[in-house]
Amino acid sequence: MNLKELYQEIILDHGKNPRNLRKTDNYNKDAKGHNPLCGDNVHVFLKLDENKKVDDISFEGSGCAISMASASIMTDLVRGKEEAEVKEIVTDFLDMIKEKDDLNSKLLNDDEKTKLMCLSGVKQYPMRVKCATLSWHTLTSAIDNSQEVINTES
Ligand code: ZN
Repeated sequence: MNLKELYQEIILDHGKNPRNLRKTDNYNKDAKGHNPLCGDNVHVFLKLDENKKVDDISFEGSGCAISMASASIMTDLVRGKEEAEVKEIVTDFLDMIKEKDDLNSKLLNDDEKTKLMCLSGVKQYPMRVKCATLSWHTLTSAIDNSQEVINTES
């Protein structure tokens, strides 16, 4: 299996069986995101503990395989991280999807980086980049507690 096939395999797996697709009990932060170009919708729920560590994160929504896989992988990776660390990972991911070749954050191990790099294939397709980044922008909105609805077209 080459790298491209491995990446596709992971995306298909997460797209078909998204992890953390549910609503967190007693969440204390949340935000909604919408990508009208593709019809992706995501609602991210976050429960931070008293140390601002992610105790639980989940999402509800529907959309294409890329948007669901991205939300699934994201929620898996940020659980247990502190708020500031989550922001660093989000920035690292968005930089990678937009312009960089690699991930730089030391907060991610190789296995986690591989999961995120799966989504790097969308780079050449600006429409798909919006699918892949929707849940990440929505997570940022939830953390900042703006309750603002993220719309990829505004
Ligand atoms: Zn989509």
